[in-house]
Formats: sequence, structure tokens, C-alpha cells
Amino acid sequence: MRDVTHPAAATRAPALGPEDAALAEELFAEIAARSPDTRGVSRPAWSAKETEILDYLTARAEAEGLVVTADALDNRVFCLPEDAGRTPYRLIGSHVDSVPVGGNYDGLAGVIAGLVCLIHQKRAGRGFARPLRVIAMRGEESAWFGPCYMASKALTGTLTPEELEAPHKGDGQPLSAHMAALGVDVAPIAEGRGLLPLDEIAEYLELHIEQGPLLVGEDRPAAVVTGIRGNLRLKEVRALGEPGHSGAVPRSYRRDPVMASAKLLARLDDLWAREVSEGGDLVITSGMMSTDPQHHAMARIPDSLTFSFEIRSQHPETLARVEAALQDEIARLTEETGVTFELPRPIRNAPAKVDAALHEALLAAMERAGQAPYAMASGGGHDAAIFANAGVPTGMVFVRSRGGSHNPDESMEVADLLAGAEILLAHVTTEGA
Ligand SMILES: [Zn+2]
Repeated sequence: MRDVTHPAAATRAPALGPEDAALAEELFAEIAARSPDTRGVSRPAWSAKETEILDYLTARAEAEGLVVTADALDNRVFCLPEDAGRTPYRLIGSHVDSVPVGGNYDGLAGVIAGLVCLIHQKRAGRGFARPLRVIAMRGEESAWFGPCYMASKALTGTLTPEELEAPHKGDGQPLSAHMAALGVDVAPIAEGRGLLPLDEIAEYLELHIEQGPLLVGEDRPAAVVTGIRGNLRLKEVRALGEPGHSGAVPRSYRRDPVMASAKLLARLDDLWAREVSEGGDLVITSGMMSTDPQHHAMARIPDSLTFSFEIRSQHPETLARVEAALQDEIARLTEETGVTFELPRPIRNAPAKVDAALHEALLAAMERAGQAPYAMASGGGHDAAIFANAGVPTGMVFVRSRGGSHNPDESMEVADLLAGAEILLAHVTTEGA
């Protein structure tokens, strides 16, 4: 046993048990059954399917005696009856949408963890140290319209007019039309008016599956998050050269966009290795890369290549430095090889800092919940990043999940979810935390 050093550690945190596990299993199973696809689940952002899931959660929570309200986006907000209308409040939230043919846990795990905390306390006839609300949000996934975190951006007044008019990947209708079809008044969103009074929110807390291999590798069920990586994304970089016969054109005569792009990425990979060896936080990915199979062939030098380029870091200065390095290397390669590069307008999502005091409080809560404190960075972005960047003190908890995320192989064990939920519960039930 560890020595108990934290003063609040004298109060043993409430433990979640078999009844809570059964409740979580039931909610996951019922929602998976309502959103099946060929494999896994599909819960489209800003759809009637989302409404069906939210209606189910509303009915289930009301049956437990919770108070449920719909906000201006028809997200659902849950609380104990005695906490209704009380401010300031703590907010636990995440999203109910999924990617197409996705897994059942990305997003939904956070909503269910919050509901388990509420229902556990309600059944036990106990409350929270401060008023607590749980929010089940709509559209977070970028797979449907392009922009991500749409609900939390609209709530905080940071959804841009461009994002509001982003066309749906299936029917081409703009996000605003899909929102309006759900009865949402889009006028205040278009004007950038936040839909939620942020000064009433004392803290925003989000539990999410990890999406990476670290907790599995470390053999830990849960972690407290240190910070959320921001990103810079170039969806379609075009490298332009000169076509030619693969056997007939000597090296010095070539302007080969494939070779030039390979050099570009190799140089940025070297920069990445240096950054990491010096203790920096950076990841670089080129997830899509192709010549045109209609026009290009094995025995031809292609005239063009397109590729995606994404960098992520917890530090804005690192993102800026790598972006500058990309520009420098492009200029140098154009000089060296004659290949030119066309860059699209970058999509930027700023890194988010978790609140330092809240981070410490969550680590202490983890200890009170009987778990050795453990912290790690978040590689993925989440609604939490939007609340943090809007100035709300924000904290996150990760839960171990195998199979990554955004695919039907996502697999999280309910026992691990409860370990994560116990960290939240230990935090929100401790006076003075
Ligand atoms: Zn998510």
C-alpha cells in the first residue's frame, strides 16, 4: 500500500460495483443495438439517429429519477433533482456520435461514465460536493462534415461561418441545414454567440477511451491527461513536376514529384526525431498519398503527386516551428529539384492545456480511488480542448481501450470504464476538491 499523503485522502472515495457495471453494460448494449452498421456502429453527427440515442438516454435517466433538459442544440443535460438550475456547476461531458462503421466507445464512454456517477449517487441517496451536470453532446466527429467538435464549438461560440456551411460528405447539404432539420436555431451560432454561459461552468471534465496503445502497454486501466495535442492539417498537398519515360529520362533531367516528396518527408522525419530526442512533443503523419492511377503508370515519371500532411503537438511553438520548416524545405527542394508544391489552406486546432490545479486534483482523486496516480498526454483532440481553449478549467481522464478508435475493433472493458469513472466520482464527491 502507498502511504496516504493527500489530506483529503482520509475520505474513502465511493466505489462503483456490480450494479454500476450492469448499468453501463446495459446502456452500451442498448445504444449499440440502436445504431448497427455492416460492422460496428454508425451514429451520424447531427442526425435523427443521434436524436434517437439521446431520447433513449433521456428516458433511461428519467426512469432513475434524474432531471433531463435539452439545450439549444438539443444536446441533453442530466442532473440530480436537487442540482437543477444551480450554478456554478461542474460539467462532465462527451459526444454520442461515431464515425461511419465505428466503435461503440469513442465518445459514448464519457457520456455513460457521467451517467453512471449520477445514477450511482441517486440510487444511494447521496449528492455531490458541488452541483454537477452531465452533457451528452451531438456531432464531434470530423468524418461527416469535415469540421470536428461542432457541438462544443457552437456552445462556446467558436464554430466558424465556414464550418457552419461545411457540406455533408453524403448528401452535400451544409451543417447549418442539418442542424436546422433538428429544430436548432442556427442564427446565434452563425453570429458566434455562445449558447452556454461559460462563467457558470466551474469545471469541464471528460472521460474518453485512450485511442492509443500506452495504457494497454503499461497495464493500467486509466490515466489523468496532462494536455491535449493541437494540430495543423494540410489535406491535399500537390507536388508538381514533369512527366517522362522511366527508361529514357536521365536523373539530371528529371523533375520527379514522387522523389521530391519522399525527400521532403524524410527531412521532416529527421526533424521529428531530433525534436523527440530533445524531449519535445510531436507527431507527423502523411496518411494519404497517391499519384493518379488513371494517368500514371509504373514505367512513367508522373507529373504530379498529392499527399496529406498532419502534425500534432501539445505546444503551439512546436507546431509553428514545424510549419516553418515545411515551408523552408519546400523552397529548398524546389530549388534543388525543380518540383513545385501547392499547399491548401491549413486547418488548425490549437493545443489545449488542462487546468493545472484540476490536473493535480484528479491525480489526488485517482489515489483516493485506490489507483496509483498516472498521467499521460492526449494524442487526439476532444470536446475538452474546445472548453479549455474557451477558458473553462478543464480536466480529462483516459480509459484503456484495445483496437485503437474510430473502427469496429475498439474494445473497452466495463471494469476499466468504472476505474476511470471512479476517478471522476472521487473528485466530484470530495468537499474542497
Ligand atoms: Zn471522441
